[in-house]
Amino acid sequence: MFPHAPLEHLHLDWLSAAGIEVAILRLDQIDPLISGNKWFKLVEHLKAAERNGAEGIISLGGAHSNHLHALAAAGKRLGFKTVGLLRGHALETPTVEDLQAFGMQLHWLGYGGYRARHESGFWEHWLAQYPTLHAVPEGGGGLSGALGCVALKAQVDVQLSALGWRDYQAWWLACGTGTTLAGLVLAEAGAHPVFGALAVPEDHGVAPQVEAILREAGVANAGYALIEASRGGFAKVDSGLLAFIEQTEQASGVPLEPLYTGKALLALKEQIAAGRFASGTRLVFVHTGGLQGRRGFSTDP
Ligand SMILES: *Cc1c(COP(=O)(O)O)cnc(C)c1O
Repeated sequence: MFPHAPLEHLHLDWLSAAGIEVAILRLDQIDPLISGNKWFKLVEHLKAAERNGAEGIISLGGAHSNHLHALAAAGKRLGFKTVGLLRGHALETPTVEDLQAFGMQLHWLGYGGYRARHESGFWEHWLAQYPTLHAVPEGGGGLSGALGCVALKAQVDVQLSALGWRDYQAWWLACGTGTTLAGLVLAEAGAHPVFGALAVPEDHGVAPQVEAILREAGVANAGYALIEASRGGFAKVDSGLLAFIEQTEQASGVPLEPLYTGKALLALKEQIAAGRFASGTRLVFVHTGGLQGRRGFSTDP
């Protein structure tokens, strides 16, 4: 059920200058169609759907949603029905064109209708219309989503020796809801700390969401830290960030997008410059994917 994600050395001047080694786990390369952490976050939801005898999955997201994209691609690949509830009014984005090509049935909820997603009765309404489908929350979050991401640690562990590494000191990854980070914290059980670079402002409730998942899993005092990386807000893009992404892509050959992976790596650079990690430190950076979504941004080079 879990596709293989390659683990590679990331070569960048500012890393070698600081004496820090980074291995990058390429979730952007797990499959030609299905990319990124969203696939891992979906796995336990798909298993639950199968256990419940559902014919498919209904979920929600925006017109650039990496989550809906992974879900629709998985539905096409594995042969289950998918329905997407979209924020806003019928937009033609590259993501939406893919969703349609993958056979996902779409409903546009408007903005007010989308905001109602947390109200009681929201899912009852949609499940009455689609009684054979299994509902998955926005972004594939919660403990189910996190449990799917536990598998990332094993994928790193089996590839360490091929890099010439016996161990690493910490993880570094982009956080939106913190679900993927929570999965790594569960996998590590305190063995290595997990650093989450926040792609959303600090008041977006990531810490309480992570704590809720860990509490539900029965884990306390877990080793993780959240670092502000949003640069003024989710999806806020500035020229410094875009220049950094372009330089990094040229120097390393690793494609990044500006919302998550670009911000996370830039935050790592800033934290290294501020002395957070000693020379000799080995870090695993998770490339959480999301490259399909960057087609929707006019700032894309
Ligand atoms: C959704 C997403 C994230 C955030 O994942 P969470 O589990 O919500 O923290 C990070 N990177 C990319 C590319 C994403 O699409």
